[in-house]
Amino acid sequence: MIKTFIALPDQKIRISSQEVKSFDNSLVKLITDLVDTASAQTNPIALGLAAPQIGVFKHVFVAKIRNKFKPFVNPKIIKSYKNRANLMEGCFSVGGIYGGVTRPAEVDIEAFDAYGKKFVKHLKGLEAKIFQHELDHLTGVLFIDYVKKQNGKLFKVKTNKKKKEELIELPLADWDDKTFEVLK
Ligand SMILES: [Zn+2]
Repeated sequence: MIKTFIALPDQKIRISSQEVKSFDNSLVKLITDLVDTASAQTNPIALGLAAPQIGVFKHVFVAKIRNKFKPFVNPKIIKSYKNRANLMEGCFSVGGIYGGVTRPAEVDIEAFDAYGKKFVKHLKGLEAKIFQHELDHLTGVLFIDYVKKQNGKLFKVKTNKKKKEELIELPLADWDDKTFEVLK
């Protein structure tokens, strides 16, 4: 079922979620809802979606891996590599805002599938970034927190006269969660 997003300034998006203890039907349903909701997004498309973003405070997310939404239950990073990448990030819980975030470019991860089977993966590039972004949602961390820490800039998408979308820098020296109420 397609769900609605929890987005700033709603502070529920800052809640720390709980680990999944039982791999039951409600987990399968949650994963289906995440895939349905992520797949329904067209402008922009979704690359991942975490359970707290639809109001379920559990350690579950889906991330687009090889063009398909894959579920990750109780996910963890077991190794972060030294090389870093700065990529533009956005989030359905921080509507219409983008910013560059520097993160490890490669990670080794472990997680469980919907039925409790553990798997490990080496992720790099965009997939490594998506995994880390979604993992942060499970502890209430948002990409804008990194932009702030890394002294980066925030951008908003605007459609120009030629009907092309472009990123406009927001003239913000500082911001907090309430700022996003005004920017909506
Ligand atoms: Zn997000």
